[in-house]
Amino acid sequence: MSAFIFNELNFDNHEQVVFVSEAKSGLKGIIAVHNTNLGPAMGGCRMWNYASEALAVNDVLRLSRGMTYKNAVAGLPIGGGKSVLIGNPRTDKTPALFEALGEALERLGGRYITAEDVGTSPQDMAHVATKTRYVAGLGDSGDPSPYTALGCFVGAQAAVKHHLQRDSMEGLTVAVQGLGHVGYDYARRLHAAGAKLVVADIDRAALERARDELGAEIVAVDAIYDVPADIYAPCALGATLNPDTLARLKAKIVAGAANNQLATADVGELLRQKGVLYAPDFVINAGGIIKVCYEYLNKPEADVDAHVREISGTLAEIFTRADSEGRATSVVADEVAQMRLARA
Ligand code: NAD
Repeated sequence: MSAFIFNELNFDNHEQVVFVSEAKSGLKGIIAVHNTNLGPAMGGCRMWNYASEALAVNDVLRLSRGMTYKNAVAGLPIGGGKSVLIGNPRTDKTPALFEALGEALERLGGRYITAEDVGTSPQDMAHVATKTRYVAGLGDSGDPSPYTALGCFVGAQAAVKHHLQRDSMEGLTVAVQGLGHVGYDYARRLHAAGAKLVVADIDRAALERARDELGAEIVAVDAIYDVPADIYAPCALGATLNPDTLARLKAKIVAGAANNQLATADVGELLRQKGVLYAPDFVINAGGIIKVCYEYLNKPEADVDAHVREISGTLAEIFTRADSEGRATSVVADEVAQMRLARA
């Protein structure tokens, strides 16, 4: 088993990887604590019907490492971790399952703090909270999406200023892929700032709402890459930036909320060579974790807004450094995170 973990593609000297199970509730999960140099590890709990246990391991290793980088660059006093539950979120969720997860977190003694993620909800986290205090993102005010959208908006402004030498969004065209919790709110802000929206989603109702409320033009799901836009805003799936889509992309800037936008690491350099300014995903989409972290640490909600707006300055520094060193923004962003971790 150890060879299996240590030889995993995404193994990156994770501090601790724990398998948790309970027969009665059917809990089968993996918790990965990647790095706690800056503080206890924080990151969401994903529930997914993984085709194999190896895929679940791979996912938790990759996602927990991503959280370390995201939290470090966001200047938060927390490390990176993640948990995955193996099961179908539509049919396998019970209060007992999340209570069992809470007990497992309690046994870890606060080294990892969980929150909602794909396949889990604030209600599920409320069940976790009956057994442990190492959980965040609870209740009605727990939705981090509006802050993720705010971070994307100020990040897009920084990109526009740097790459297009413009202080305003007025008249720019933004191709928004995905009008969910984050994408819609981001689109609303862009519209209010005078941008023209072209949108794609698999959800007809979301498209019609964007058309009626924001004057958005609707295109087919696959046509979003061909839109002659100034900004491409991926807010749905990961890995949408690959050599295929890159050949089609007309946008000069990529600024969106989706996690893991680059299909492979080398796509960051391909974007640079094409003259496209890429706002690294884990920098621009940190608004949500900033909000969740403030809530967990009982820091004033009033200060969250200012902290999220700092994403703009962080990106501006990354853009400037990448330009002057002739390197991809994704590579520079990784380095910023690594330096903060090394200093801690
Ligand atoms: P969501 O599920 O609310 O929205 C996703 C939207 O994308 C939905 O409207 C869905 O119909 C649409 N979609 C699915 N497949 C599509 C396709 N092929 N083409 C176009 N649209 C498609 O999710 P969300 O919370 O808005 O998150 C969006 C992305 O941002 C995800 O990748 C998520 O991991 C990432 N993210 C979210 C947060 C947050 O605070 N919610 C924080 C960081 C990163």
